[in-house]
Amino acid sequence: MCAETPDDAYGFAAPFRAPQGSPIRELFKYVGRPGMISFAGGYPSKDLFDREGLAKALDAAYRSDPVACLQYGDTAGAPLLRRSLARLMGERGVQCGPDDIVVTTGSQQGFDLLLRTLIAPGDTALIEEPAYPAAIAALRLAGANIVTVRTDGDGIDVDALAAQLDAWPAGAGRPKLLYTVPTFANPTGATLPRERREALVRLAQARRIVLVEDDPYGELRFAGNPVPPILALADACPGARDWVVYFGSLSKIVAPGLRIGWAIAPAPIARRMIVAKQTSDLCTSPLAQETARHYLDGGGLEQHLRSILGAYRSRCEAMLKALAHFAPNDIEFSAPQGGMFVWARLAGGRDAGEVLKRAIERNVMFVPGTAFFVREPDASSLRLSFAAPGEAEAFEGARRLASALSF
Ligand code: PMP
Repeated sequence: MCAETPDDAYGFAAPFRAPQGSPIRELFKYVGRPGMISFAGGYPSKDLFDREGLAKALDAAYRSDPVACLQYGDTAGAPLLRRSLARLMGERGVQCGPDDIVVTTGSQQGFDLLLRTLIAPGDTALIEEPAYPAAIAALRLAGANIVTVRTDGDGIDVDALAAQLDAWPAGAGRPKLLYTVPTFANPTGATLPRERREALVRLAQARRIVLVEDDPYGELRFAGNPVPPILALADACPGARDWVVYFGSLSKIVAPGLRIGWAIAPAPIARRMIVAKQTSDLCTSPLAQETARHYLDGGGLEQHLRSILGAYRSRCEAMLKALAHFAPNDIEFSAPQGGMFVWARLAGGRDAGEVLKRAIERNVMFVPGTAFFVREPDASSLRLSFAAPGEAEAFEGARRLASALSF
C-alpha cells in the first residue's frame, strides 16, 4: 500500500498519536532464529501443553452441545463455565458463586474493561514497579496519570505506600486503582507475604482505592507454602471485598490459545464491565468456553498442573545453577518459588540492553528490565524466564549468557 497520507491526517486520539508497541513483542523476531535459546518469553512451554487432554475436551464440548459452541453466548460467560470457575476459586480459598464471575477473553481483556469503566484521561492510577508491561501500556492508552509504588524482594512495600498516600499532594487527583501481581509477579517472581496482603487490603478499603489483583501465575507454585489470594483475605475485613477486583486466567496453567480469563469484581463494577464487553467482543468464544469447561470438569487441570510444576521446578533450578556456575560474579538474581520468572541484576551497573545485543549474537535472549518501568528504568536489571528451555538448553543458555557478559 502506498503511504502518502501522513499519520496526523487521521486525527488519532491522543494516546495513539505516537504509539509504542510492546517492547517484548519486538524481541520475538529473534525467537524463531535457528538455535536460539530464549529466556525472554512469558509463554508457557510449548512442549508441556496437554495436547491430548485438550483435544478430548474440545471434541467432547462440540459433540455434547454443538449449538452452544457455535452460537453467540452470554456476555458474562457460559453459565456452566462460570460454575466451574467459581469452584476453582473455592479451591483457592475465595468464596464466590457463578454469578460473581465474568468470563473474559484472556485476563488482559478484563483489565482493559476495568479501565474503561474507571479511568478517564487524566485520572490517577497506581501501579507497582517494576510492573507487567501490558498493564503499563493499558494505563497509558487509557490516558491515566500513572504513579508508581515501590516494591522490594517481597512485592509492594505497603508501609511506603501508606506514607506515599499520607503525603498525597492536596489538589492532585486521588488514585482510583492500584494494579499488582501479588503472586509470582511478572517480572520479579516475587510473592507478597500474607501480612502485607492483609495490610494492603485494609489500606485500599480505607483509602477507597480499587485494588486490582492480577493472578495468572498463583497456581504455578513448585516450592514453599501457598499464600491465599488477596481476595480471599479481604473476607476477614467487613466491606473490604468491595475494593478488590481479581483477575484469573487459564493462559499459564492450561493454554493461552484458549483465551479464557475471568474477573471477580464488586457488583457495580462487574455490571459496567459487562456493558463494556458488549461493545468489545459481545462474548468470549463459546467454543473455547465449552472446551475449558469440559477440561476443568474432567479433572484435566489437576493432572496437568502436577506434570508442569515438576518440569518448571527443574527448569528453574537448572537455570539458576547454571547461572551461578558460569557467571558467579556477574549477575545477582532472586530464586522464585513458582511462576515463570527470575529477576536479575548485572554487577557493576552494566547495561542489560547492551548485553542483550551481544547475547543475541550468541543465540540467547532475555528481556532487559527497562521494559518494566514507567519512567526511570533500572538499566542493569533483566528478566529471565525459565519456562521454555529444557534443562540442557538452560545450561547452554547460561553458558552463552556468561560469554555475552565477559567484556
Ligand atoms: N497479567 C500478567 C501479569 C501476565 O503476565 C499476562 C500474560 N503475559 C497476562 C495478565 C495476560 O494473560 P491472558 O493471556 O489471560 O490475557
